[in-house]
Amino acid sequence: MIRKIEHLGIAVKSIEESAKIYDALLGSACYKIEEVVSEGVKTAFYRIGESKIELLEATNENSPIYKFIEKKGQGIHHIAFDVEDIYAEIERLKAEGFQLINEVPKDGADNKIIAFLHPKSTDGILVELCQEKS
Ligand code: ZN
Repeated sequence: MIRKIEHLGIAVKSIEESAKIYDALLGSACYKIEEVVSEGVKTAFYRIGESKIELLEATNENSPIYKFIEKKGQGIHHIAFDVEDIYAEIERLKAEGFQLINEVPKDGADNKIIAFLHPKSTDGILVELCQEKS
């Protein structure tokens, strides 16, 4: 079951530069900066009520964030839904005909296991499923 929007992922060229804007916009500093080496990204998280904003900066030129910014510029990169049981949700969405980028969940930032749906099957939006690690 999809329970809420967990976070919006926003691709930025520099977390250091963009953090100045988001600190001022949201009225608080990010609560966590974390690198996900396997994804080639550095992330910064802001809490907004029950949801979050995740800023994503590429750490190398093979990073999906580097390629995204090259193609589309800075901006909204993905929408992440909080799910109760990511394995069950992957099976449900596969049965519905959605194309999964990750059929097996992997470690993400902020103590989550995650899986992405291909934007081809969601009318252009990269969708992340995430479940809190217990
Ligand atoms: Zn995310």
